[in-house]
Amino acid sequence: MDTHCHFDFSDFDSDRDQLLSDAKQKGLLHLVIPGVKRENWRRVRELAIAHEELHFALGLHPMFMDAHTEQHLRDLEIEVTKGPVVAVGEIGLDFQFGRDNQHEQERLFNSQIQIAMNANLPVIIHCRKAHEDILKILSDNNYHNGGVIHAYNGDLNQAKRYAAHGFKLGVGGAITYERATKIRKMVSELSLEQIVLETDAPDMSPVTCQGKRNTPVHIFDNFSSLVELREESAEQIAQQTTTNALEVFRLS
Ligand SMILES: [Zn+2]
Repeated sequence: MDTHCHFDFSDFDSDRDQLLSDAKQKGLLHLVIPGVKRENWRRVRELAIAHEELHFALGLHPMFMDAHTEQHLRDLEIEVTKGPVVAVGEIGLDFQFGRDNQHEQERLFNSQIQIAMNANLPVIIHCRKAHEDILKILSDNNYHNGGVIHAYNGDLNQAKRYAAHGFKLGVGGAITYERATKIRKMVSELSLEQIVLETDAPDMSPVTCQGKRNTPVHIFDNFSSLVELREESAEQIAQQTTTNALEVFRLS
């Protein structure tokens, strides 16, 4: 299962159906498309409704702060009750380029956490240089609906604290690079019960398509690297990561 794929992006307009049938043929049966801003929600919803393999989430992403308004938060509150939304996301905090708008980001994130709690939905979290800030907001809200920390790059202690809030950790293309020693070591030490696979296509290309467009079928490259890094069998890893993903999005 690909727990994070921006399959609505125009990068896939020319061959979306083909990519989906290729992925399906290789055994990829579920993909989750997160929403990143108000204007793409309709597309995300329509795509997911048209294909049984596709599931969708709706949210306001911290990298597009200028696109979001107060009205969009009110819209989100209504949209998530309409079904069949699997999560609120992609939401979070991104301090990669500084904390100039920290307050605005935290306010938006906090509001979306509350929307998820009111709708009884999990969340998909984008986090760069903000794990402690995110954990604090989750604790302050007494949040326990779970979800996925996308492209997890925290440490083992933070992983345990995320688990207490019901979170799985997204593992993607980063682990296919041999030079990524820190993240590879961390992923080898995580509990298998906490790992879910993702591509983040069209971004986060694994080494097998480095510098090119990433597509859902590359989930199998990420899976192969995970198998190399872990002691469990390939079968066990495939089964457990799929179970984890189905469980967190309540698809089982
Ligand atoms: Zn994303």
